[in-house]
Amino acid sequence: MLSGVKCTVSSCKFWQSGNHCDASTIQVNVDGGGREASQSRETNCHTFAPKS
Ligand code: SF4
Repeated sequence: MLSGVKCTVSSCKFWQSGNHCDASTIQVNVDGGGREASQSRETNCHTFAPKS
């Protein structure tokens, strides 16, 4: 569990109740590519995977 990560994406297979992430690492990228975001909404977790 990534104790410092709070996530509300409950449809992710790594998500656990209490808004915890159970992945060992996460990858966060800028929407649309590149390396510069100017607002939080322009970033996303790309470790997300749907529950099967
Ligand atoms: S992998 Fe990303 S989307 Fe999934 S629970 Fe962890 S932080 Fe949230």
